[in-house]
Amino acid sequence: MSVLVFVEGLNGEIKKSSLEAASYGSQVAQQLGTTATAVAIGEVHEEALTKLGEQGISKVLYDADDRLKQFVADAYVKVIAKAAQQESAKVLVFSNSNIGAAVGSKLAVRLNGSLATNVTSLPKTDGGQFVVTRGVFSGKAFADVALISDVKIVAVKKNSFEAAHNAGNTATVEKLSAELTDADFAAAPKETVMQDSDGGVLLPEAEIVVSGGRGLKGPKNWHLVEDLAKVLGAATACSKPVSDMDWRPHHEHVGQTGITVSPNLYIAIGISGAIQHLAGVNSSKVIVVINKDPEAPFFKAADYGIVGDAFEIVPKLIEAAKAL
Ligand code: FAD
Repeated sequence: MSVLVFVEGLNGEIKKSSLEAASYGSQVAQQLGTTATAVAIGEVHEEALTKLGEQGISKVLYDADDRLKQFVADAYVKVIAKAAQQESAKVLVFSNSNIGAAVGSKLAVRLNGSLATNVTSLPKTDGGQFVVTRGVFSGKAFADVALISDVKIVAVKKNSFEAAHNAGNTATVEKLSAELTDADFAAAPKETVMQDSDGGVLLPEAEIVVSGGRGLKGPKNWHLVEDLAKVLGAATACSKPVSDMDWRPHHEHVGQTGITVSPNLYIAIGISGAIQHLAGVNSSKVIVVINKDPEAPFFKAADYGIVGDAFEIVPKLIEAAKAL
């Protein structure tokens, strides 16, 4: 029996959220007195696979089928299920990303397993139980859930666990073939367009996000968000009304009905902090809020707050960041 971690690649590297999932998986394996294996799919450099040893992974199974370069849920599920079967894995770990959530639910059906998404704790395993804590109601509350089926699937919330970096530890890499057929790709997208924000940084993967709301008054003032993002190497984002009014494109809208981001730093400029907005940003490590209203609800969720006029503060921040 082993723990199996599904790791996602981006531009040949392993995504940060998957490194977190790998560390989580190897800690669970330790708890259960077993080892953690990873399964990687698509285009990932061999060196990146080997380096998963730093997160405590002992072996990586890798399916290099060219058709897996773009995400196709049924094909990915077949590869992960094959790896789980080969390793007799009873605990499967993913990042709670869009891809993780899509394959997690399908795998739960296929393997007759139980699935917990948005998980924020290591399992409690006393007395043969497997109980994890997960965020519910857009992160406003937590629930402890017991996974009672033989196969347990855990999707780990981004930024809830540090990725370990035990330099020098390496994983062995083995080829895996799930013998995919054309039928597995019947529902493949015709084309996948990676939507960059203007800074060239992909919003869901960004380490720093600079986001603007209705307080910026109009698209003509968006240079403030863009300029700050540029000096910080950040992605740009916005609140829903901003994209509804066409000040910014819809792919930048974050929140309950938009994209979920989990950066190390989220800077919110002129955004009130409605619950629907917070739902998409509350797994950010550090939140900085700039708002002229000291009663703005966002300040309750902020690590740092600046009460004042964005049109005075942001230019000063840009100059300060340039001087770093
Ligand atoms: P406002 O609420 O108008 O806030 C503007 C803020 O700017 C205010 O706090 C004000 O004090 C401040 N301000 C004004 N001038 C300045 C200045 N010069 N300097 C500094 N600060 C200034 N919203 C989302 O963002 N994402 C979602 O996914 C989402 N989904 C939704 C789903 C549903 C079903 C519903 C009902 C709503 C949803 N909303 C969502 C909308 C949400 O409820 C809020 O209306 C929205 O987030 C408010 O956007 P805002 O903060 O940009 O604007």
